[in-house]
Amino acid sequence: MHYSWVHGYYNHQNTASAAHAASDAASSARRAENVVARLEDALDRQALIIRTLLSMCEAKGLFNEAEFREFMNDVDLSDGRLDGKFKPQATPRSCPNCGKTNGKRAVTCMYCGEQLEGRELI
Ligand SMILES: [Zn+2]
Repeated sequence: MHYSWVHGYYNHQNTASAAHAASDAASSARRAENVVARLEDALDRQALIIRTLLSMCEAKGLFNEAEFREFMNDVDLSDGRLDGKFKPQATPRSCPNCGKTNGKRAVTCMYCGEQLEGRELI
């Protein structure tokens, strides 16, 4: 009888724990889906902006799509790979004050707070 109560208790604990884990996993999945949906919306918005800019430049005679593609290939190659992406390698930068290295997008040194020059635009 006693064993049965203990066994039942642990079974209940395991079931509750599994249910809690399943609930956590479902929440994580919902959050991930929301993040993906927001990223898709942001990408669609950026695609609209880029398409509008390109169409406007063509309409105003600034350049045509072929010239744009040629220029885009040059920019694509500037990161060392012609792969349809611009993904510059992280080039750690030394702080002029303390000499420690910081990420390429750092505005100030994460070690001493010194203002860093020549930050990457994007
Ligand atoms: Zn520093």
